[in-house]
Amino acid sequence: MMEMPKVISCTVTNCAYNTSQVCHAMAITVGDISNRPKCDTFFQTSIHGGLKEVTAGVGACKISDCSFNKELECNAQNIKVGMQSGTAECLTFKQR
Ligand code: SF4
Repeated sequence: MMEMPKVISCTVTNCAYNTSQVCHAMAITVGDISNRPKCDTFFQTSIHGGLKEVTAGVGACKISDCSFNKELECNAQNIKVGMQSGTAECLTFKQR
């Protein structure tokens, strides 16, 4: 059975799920209608989100032209997320 790849680091510290560059959402979704590998789970609010004992996995990825993508799931070993082009993006994205 396939394991969810982990988000091993995220430098988007203004996200509600981020503590000390670790994402504490249960899972993130990558990709949106712009077809960029954005972190679709990124959220800014005054409430702190996520569970501190959890490191996020990649629950789904909508970027089919990434070489790690298979059936709209991420098959990378793990991913890194950071700011790119002004938004939170998957830095592990590799054009097919
Ligand atoms: S991976 Fe996405 S949801 Fe998690 S902390 Fe970074 S921007 Fe927020």
